[in-house]
Amino acid sequence: MPMSGAFEERLFPKLPGIIKHFGTPFHIYDEQGIIDTAENWKTLFKDVYGFKEFFAVKALPNPAILNIMKKIGFGLDCSSTSELIMGRQCKFSGEDIILTSNNTSPELFELALAGGGCILNLDDISLVDKVPEMPDMICFRYNPGEQRTGSGFMGNPVESKWGVRHDQIIDAYRMAKERGAGHFGIHTMLISNERDYLYMVETVRMLLEVMANVTEALGITFDFFNIGGGVGIPYRPEDQVFNMPGLAKEAAVLINVFSEKIAYRPKLYMECGRYATGPHGVLVASVINRMSKYREYVGVNAPTMAANPRPAIYEAYHHITILNPSGTPRSGDEEVVDVTGPLCENNDKFARQRLLPKTEIGDIMVQHDTGAHCYAMGGNYNGWLRPKELLLHTDGSVELIRRAETIDDLFATLQTEHDIMKA
Ligand SMILES: *Cc1c(COP(=O)(O)O)cnc(C)c1O
Repeated sequence: MPMSGAFEERLFPKLPGIIKHFGTPFHIYDEQGIIDTAENWKTLFKDVYGFKEFFAVKALPNPAILNIMKKIGFGLDCSSTSELIMGRQCKFSGEDIILTSNNTSPELFELALAGGGCILNLDDISLVDKVPEMPDMICFRYNPGEQRTGSGFMGNPVESKWGVRHDQIIDAYRMAKERGAGHFGIHTMLISNERDYLYMVETVRMLLEVMANVTEALGITFDFFNIGGGVGIPYRPEDQVFNMPGLAKEAAVLINVFSEKIAYRPKLYMECGRYATGPHGVLVASVINRMSKYREYVGVNAPTMAANPRPAIYEAYHHITILNPSGTPRSGDEEVVDVTGPLCENNDKFARQRLLPKTEIGDIMVQHDTGAHCYAMGGNYNGWLRPKELLLHTDGSVELIRRAETIDDLFATLQTEHDIMKA
């Protein structure tokens, strides 16, 4: 099920007032929903030693959201310079930030080690010698290669640009140990938007086996293993949910078997983005045109590529609810339409050939499941501006947590110092 009934009940009655106050378009995120998902998750994993989620910042990089994650007790998974800086500005400590970079630059290593540090997750064996100063705690991203098949956008592990090869992994830990590391973690990420929990159970099993091999070869033990993110959410009404209780139960069993055999117990970490926030956001836009061409069009005042590019780029399905101006869902006669933005690209469609209730100018389009990888993936192609972001707090108040972009923002990088290299 897309957007939860509880979120609808919290949001829809308020929506006309919110639109009057802030204007459309905007994303609005549901603090209560984010907290409920997180608390339920923690409860499911209460028997899994040291379980912790490190929220993948790239899914929803907004300090107001990161502050909710901090209150819940989650850490952060950062994978770029700006994400690391935002995490530190939100006062996450070094142990609460995992830096999973790829093709890492010397500058990012410097930043990672300065200012309270972070848990460094090295993406390649060649990087061991490039860390300016080996921290006490080090983690490697493991790529199983031919031993596993990936899913979704992650593709086949053999073709993916991530991680340390299977035949290099013991050497990687040996080299890190020789450079002074004393505590160790291991990480992998093999799935994306996958709703079959058995992939994750396999990942638990796989990493436990790799840890057992490294322990046997080098005598080191692991503080934690991180099975990554990529847990899918049901975007379509008929989609099954990911079996998180099943994963918790089977992970606990596998870890128990491991610790009986190998005589220590590593903590289990996850780093989901989509699962944590995806269902807890919606894009709200106004219907500004009805157009009858070879197809019927509902035109809204938001550009896909700036507001939510997933339908345009991936033809991803996002459920849509149409409300009348007073905030009640339209019902009755239905019609098949394309829902379009104003961009000069024919893929600028929030929905293609979608059966929706008959829609009128002035109606409200609510596009579900925009709490992860939607605003964050938006850009300024064709000069369109990204919308504002709002947060519906648990007490019912609504806060502007990011203003809309302006033309001045867009033109700001054109204001250069006079700089000409002479011919
Ligand atoms: C993108 C990313 C995630 C989060 O992916 P979701 O599909 O949002 O769970 C986690 N870890 C890493 C390293 C990533 O790049």
